[in-house]
Amino acid sequence: MRIASIRQGVVPISSAIANAYIDFSKMTASVVAVTVEDGAGRRVTGYGFNSNGRYAQPGLLAERFIPRLEACDETVLAAADGTLNVHGAWAAMMRNEKPGGHGDRSVAVGVLDMALWDAAAKLEGKPLWRLLADRYRGGEADEAAWVYAAGGYYYPGKDVEALVEEMKRYLGLGYTTVKMKIGGAPGTAIRDALKEDLARIEAVLKLLGGDGSRLAVDVNGRFGLHAALAYGAALAPFNLRWYEEPLDPLDFATHATLAEHYAPPLATGENLFSMLDARNLIRHGGLRPDRDILQFDPALSYGLVEYLRTLEMLQAHGWSPRRCVPHGGHQFALNIAVGLGLGGNESYPEVFAPFGGFATDTPVVEGRIRMPDLPGIGFEAKNDLWAVLKDL
Ligand SMILES: [Mg+2]
Repeated sequence: MRIASIRQGVVPISSAIANAYIDFSKMTASVVAVTVEDGAGRRVTGYGFNSNGRYAQPGLLAERFIPRLEACDETVLAAADGTLNVHGAWAAMMRNEKPGGHGDRSVAVGVLDMALWDAAAKLEGKPLWRLLADRYRGGEADEAAWVYAAGGYYYPGKDVEALVEEMKRYLGLGYTTVKMKIGGAPGTAIRDALKEDLARIEAVLKLLGGDGSRLAVDVNGRFGLHAALAYGAALAPFNLRWYEEPLDPLDFATHATLAEHYAPPLATGENLFSMLDARNLIRHGGLRPDRDILQFDPALSYGLVEYLRTLEMLQAHGWSPRRCVPHGGHQFALNIAVGLGLGGNESYPEVFAPFGGFATDTPVVEGRIRMPDLPGIGFEAKNDLWAVLKDL
């Protein structure tokens, strides 16, 4: 087993959209291609990228993580059963890295981890979801994954009517649950922003037949406790699917206070990038394992090797993997959802192309999507994404 080559590139995923915290006009993503030879004549290329919200990491990849991966030999890369040892490669990439400070480094490692899992599954001639089910879940995989359509971004000139039209398109694509941004009215006092957001929420709820369980709202970490409680009091009667990232992702004590006052489901975790950060949220964030949703994104948080540790930690704290619905809307997390029995996965039908979305010709039916039976993560079956990756 050896690494034959590693290539990397940076691609733009810019768009005019904004959430309550950032706009996406300068957003980029790293892409990598890792070619592996297994010594038995098989040669495969695995691909990886980082999901939206964090920028490309060409410097970290070039200076530290790619050279460390290139230096791995047979003793590191080959597992006892002859498969590609992704855990060993991961440990080699993290050599000489101090603990703590998870951020851009976790993105760079996550990109390579994704490519290694893609390669490992291709070497075994299996889809990644099947490899994961066989290895970690006694062979049991879900038949389909629940997905919801994330959108409802702020966009210059976008009014309530345009928001409802957008949500209508998602329902037309087969989604049953949708998510919209709130808390982003620029420069507005809380009571005015809340009034505007309630009008937006009520318009979308009307489209959903008044069923709050089909609508989630996302603040992207913008509120302090006062605004989070004011919004929470106004949102509670709608019984929404969830109220996402109302507070700073690392402010665990304030989350705990909010959870004492807001009874319906909360969701957070997309900006926590390690098992240890996730564990602090579980220990100190006051979240409730019977209803709340955890959105750790494996692509942004050191990849699947670390995500497996996070799932183990959750189990030890009494949390089911079904409470996990990863951020990012990518095929990597979708494979993990089906193979490891998560609660579902995010989906971006209209933004973050070509990384958002799933294999071409796999329709969403009643809010669920089936996985194609292709070796690896399945990028080759997603036409727009494959057009970018194959250039590597
Ligand atoms: Mg979010």
